Amino acid sequence: KNLKKYFSEKGNLLRKSQNKIKAVDNISFQVKRGETFSIVGESGCGKSTTGLCLLRLTEPTSGEVIFNGKDILAISNKKEMLDYRRNIQIIFQDPYSSLNPKHTVKQILSEPFIINQTVSKDEIEERVISLLKLVGLDTYHLNRYPHEFSGGQRQRIGIARALALNPQLIICDEPVSALDVSIQSQILNLLRTLQQKLNLTYIFISHDLSVVERISDRVAVMYLGKIVELGTREQIFNDPKHPYTKALLSSVPIADPKMKKLKNRIVLEGDLPSPNNPPKGCYFYSRCPVKMEKCKEIYPTVQQVSELHQVSCHLVSLE
Ligand code: SF4
Ligand code: MG
Repeated sequence: KNLKKYFSEKGNLLRKSQNKIKAVDNISFQVKRGETFSIVGESGCGKSTTGLCLLRLTEPTSGEVIFNGKDILAISNKKEMLDYRRNIQIIFQDPYSSLNPKHTVKQILSEPFIINQTVSKDEIEERVISLLKLVGLDTYHLNRYPHEFSGGQRQRIGIARALALNPQLIICDEPVSALDVSIQSQILNLLRTLQQKLNLTYIFISHDLSVVERISDRVAVMYLGKIVELGTREQIFNDPKHPYTKALLSSVPIADPKMKKLKNRIVLEGDLPSPNNPPKGCYFYSRCPVKMEKCKEIYPTVQQVSELHQVSCHLVSLE
């Protein structure tokens, strides 16, 4: 709720005189248990920073992160934080750099149990084996090292590690972006199967709309640190309202040229404005093909267009 993460230009310390980079600029959303909530946008829009803020792997500048009714930004004691982190796990884009190359799979998957001391030593191997099975890997892999696996297998190990402590929520940060398309499908299917089996909730971060369309229940579109549109998958993909969402959708390759997505095609021109000096009015102004005079001066407030669908654009308030 009202989450902000500002950086100073030189690094993490914010000094008054310096320009602030508004990586996450006052965003609010709710995620329901058991759903896949996606955050989509171009690189640098603040989606990964949002994920890190939710885990407090980076400390938000302000706002609230409420999990099961508790504001986790107010937690100051280590044990409570450890409990929270057990419930929320993260899967990264590049499984290779997030797995210690000097550790075997067995060591990698044992680590969460050792750190959290949730199971006895004798039980650990048993748990590691069941984790491997859960993600579709054979147990003879136990004593192998990350470099001996394919990209898809490594991501399975990353997923197994995230599942070790029975989390409720998993933040998936571009989990299939480094993989071939055919392997992407397998991993997305695995994520979906695990979600049903273990009643998991996902926050799925991606720049890839075709992936987001396959996995999401609801989608938030981010641009320059702000959520510009939020809705169900159907609303975002079949009835997008924000010019930026429309532009993103029209840049997705489409197999069937007659598909309606090609209508009202918008091509994005120009670069993202710098987040340390966002425009005064609508942040999308410099690239928007349907901008109006007032867009330059006034940032559009969030409009509720239907029950689950909200948009920040002056055009929508005119409808
Ligand atoms: Fe375009 Fe104006 Fe809407 Fe911004 S508010 S997206 S500039 S029409
Ligand atoms: Mg990122």
